[in-house]
Amino acid sequence: MGTCRCAILNVLSGALARDLLDKHLREVRTDGMGRTVHLCEDSEIEWLEERRLGGYDDDVTVLRRLEH
Ligand SMILES: [Zn+2]
Repeated sequence: MGTCRCAILNVLSGALARDLLDKHLREVRTDGMGRTVHLCEDSEIEWLEERRLGGYDDDVTVLRRLEH
């Protein structure tokens, strides 16, 4: 699966975020706001999935690393 880069990333969006979601992260829970939290099992870092309106047809997926 390649090297885990979660520890050096803070925010990802668009295709990069979707790629990480598809290949690297596991959905674990939702926060109180209905957003999905995903876990990287390599680093035990959690990511919050947000959606930002893209303006036209597509929403932009945004992943934000959760600090603990
Ligand atoms: Zn990772």
